[in-house]
Amino acid sequence: MARSLGIIATIAVVAAGIGAIAVHDQVTSLEVEAVSGDVYVIFGLGGNVAVLKTATGAVVVDTMSFRIQGERIRELAEKIAGGPTQAIFNSHYHFDHSHGNPGFAAHARIISTDRTLDYMRILDADYWSGFEDSMPNETFSDEYEVVIGAKTIRAIHPGRGHTGGDLVVHFVDDRVIHTGDLFFNHRYPNIDLVGGGSVKAWIETLDRILELDFDRVIPGHGAVSDRQGIIGFQEFLRELWQVGENAAQQGLSLDQTLASAQLGKDEDYAEIKIPFLLTLDRDFVIQRAWEEATGAVVPVELPQAAE
Ligand SMILES: [Zn+2]
Repeated sequence: MARSLGIIATIAVVAAGIGAIAVHDQVTSLEVEAVSGDVYVIFGLGGNVAVLKTATGAVVVDTMSFRIQGERIRELAEKIAGGPTQAIFNSHYHFDHSHGNPGFAAHARIISTDRTLDYMRILDADYWSGFEDSMPNETFSDEYEVVIGAKTIRAIHPGRGHTGGDLVVHFVDDRVIHTGDLFFNHRYPNIDLVGGGSVKAWIETLDRILELDFDRVIPGHGAVSDRQGIIGFQEFLRELWQVGENAAQQGLSLDQTLASAQLGKDEDYAEIKIPFLLTLDRDFVIQRAWEEATGAVVPVELPQAAE
C-alpha cells in the first residue's frame, strides 16, 4: 500500500518541480545493451530487464515500474526478437520489477514463484486490483523449465534473500542468468524482511545460484557482471550478517550497532535513493541485519504453508 502511494507522491512532486514532460522522458527513456548470444539487457528507471531473442519471439524478465515503461519494453523486446512476446518472468513482487506488466497484452504468459504471487496479493494489492489479468498466471515453487523458439529457459527459486520468493532465470543456451534483486552490483541492496527476505539465508541462496552453468550475469540493479561479481556480493553479505549476529550476541541497541559496525566490502557501493520510500545505504543495510538478528521484524504470513 505505502509503496504505490509513495511512488505516486514521488511522481507528483517531481512533476511539479521539473515539468511533466521531463518526467515522462525520464520514465520512458530506456537503454539497450547486448549481453551475450541472443540475450540483451534494458536499463531504465527500475530493475534491469532481460530480453531473450528466440525463433518465435521474445522472452522478457521483469517489466520496471510503470505501465508506460512496460509498453516501451514490449515494443523494444519485440523489435529485438523480431516477433511477439512469448513469455514474461517476474523475478519478485517489488513494483520496480513488475508494475510494467499491464503494458503487455492482457492474459500474456507471466511466470513467477507461488510466493511472489502471494506477496503481490498481500503486500501490493491496491496496485493489482483492476490489473488481475496482468498478474502471474503460471507459478512454481522450486524449479521451472520451458522451451520457447528452440531456446531452453530454466528458472529456480534458490531460497530466501532479497524477498522470500525471488526467482533466477537461466538462459541455458546463451549461458546468461538474470538474478533479479538477489544480486545488486556494487549498490547497497534492499532487504525486504516483511516480504520474507533474510541476510542470513541470502548467503546460501547465492551458493545455489553459483551452482548454475553460466558466464554472464544481469543483476537486478547495476551493470552486467559475472560469477566473480556474485562472489564479491556474497562476501559483503557475510560481513553484514556478522554485524547483526555480533549485535544480537552482545545485546547492542540499533544506535550502538550503527556506531560500531565494521564493514569494508562495501567501500565502492553506491547508495540508491527512492524519494519518500527508502534510501538504500550503509545505515539501511546495518539496520536490516540488526532487525533480523534481534527478531525485531516479523515477516508477513503467507496464506498456505509453502513447504
Ligand atoms: Zn526488489
